[in-house]
Amino acid sequence: MPKRELDKPKYEIVGELEQMDRDEMVMARRRLVPDSEQWQRYYQKYPELEEQGRRWAELQSSRQSRLGIPPEDELMETAMRYIQGILAKNEHVDGESAPEKIVIDPKRASEKIKGFTRHLGADLVKIGPFNPAWTYSRTGPRESSGRAGETQTSLPHQHAIVVAIAYNRDELECAPRFAVAQATGTMYIRLSSIVVTLAKYIRSLGYSARAHNHNSPALHVPLAIDAGMGELARNGIMITEEYGSAVKPMAVTTDMPLVHDKPVDIGVEEFCSQCEICADYCPMGAIHRGDKKVVRGVRKWPLNAAACHEYFLISGSNCSLCIAYCPWTRPRTFPHNLIIKAMERSSLARKMVIKAHTMLLREKKRKVPSWQEEQPEVWRQALRPGHPLYRQQ
Ligand code: SF4
Ligand code: SF4
Repeated sequence: MPKRELDKPKYEIVGELEQMDRDEMVMARRRLVPDSEQWQRYYQKYPELEEQGRRWAELQSSRQSRLGIPPEDELMETAMRYIQGILAKNEHVDGESAPEKIVIDPKRASEKIKGFTRHLGADLVKIGPFNPAWTYSRTGPRESSGRAGETQTSLPHQHAIVVAIAYNRDELECAPRFAVAQATGTMYIRLSSIVVTLAKYIRSLGYSARAHNHNSPALHVPLAIDAGMGELARNGIMITEEYGSAVKPMAVTTDMPLVHDKPVDIGVEEFCSQCEICADYCPMGAIHRGDKKVVRGVRKWPLNAAACHEYFLISGSNCSLCIAYCPWTRPRTFPHNLIIKAMERSSLARKMVIKAHTMLLREKKRKVPSWQEEQPEVWRQALRPGHPLYRQQ
């Protein structure tokens, strides 16, 4: 199936789209302080999850996690998180627009926005509609629109500019070791700085604009899919034609008149229906096998985000095995581009790629960058099935 532009995204909506409750977001759960008022409120609602919540709190406080990561490396990540926190402050993501509007033809404005975003360092940039269904139903701790937990006020925006950066391949191939967390931290800083700069630029043109980084009422992946950046995959994230799953997106929403890109069909759905390589490699069984299910009004492959997150806590890295081992996530060489084109067009090619990929895959042995320390072998053993730290969910 060659790449096609569509009038509407390929995912199937069943009934009403439901906004995601922020309580369902694992990062929000992870921040709950045991037995605090918020903790009690949350676990009265979900008593079956409290044991897991206590395990997470214990993992965080006892430093059982981050196995074998020396403090001099861990502190690099702490420094990156500090900068991410600064870029997520309300005064950076949002603000007053200039009183006078500079009117630009929407087509030319879109070209300017895309060119400037690439100039700032983005690998991909697309423009699509801003669907308020892709926001959390309630505000989070960092958001300017009211106190945490209040009903989300909708943004007066019609457009989403979605920006993505691709992984450094050498670092991604260190998955699931700590080097991949360092890689992701760097991507978040670069992305955050791009969306904050872009939103500031648009506000200076006289339009309302909000950057969506770690301080975001919006969900980046569905915005990216609606804007035509890629398709939703079995591993719960987006696959792009250019970089496979090896990208991170963030966004800017705005009321500045812009021209939308079209959603795309690159054959991911057909491929994922035949392939379960990411599920084979997931150490927590977090990736769904078999057919899609309806989640908040969308038919898709559900991801057990809590199980995935627990692995992050145990390992101290953000794993990313499902990204590194996906057949779409290969270097952009001429032969690979040909394979991608064949995968998009032919069911037989998809079957052959899955077979060849499964046969050729081995645990990647790439060394971590020379300025980082290698984690000891005991760490790898600790994360194999059967070890007490490994829990199949
Ligand atoms: S590994 Fe296979 S099933 Fe998983 S996201 Fe990639 S193509 Fe889809
Ligand atoms: S990041 Fe790791 S634990 Fe999470 S879904 Fe992917 S493979 Fe599973």
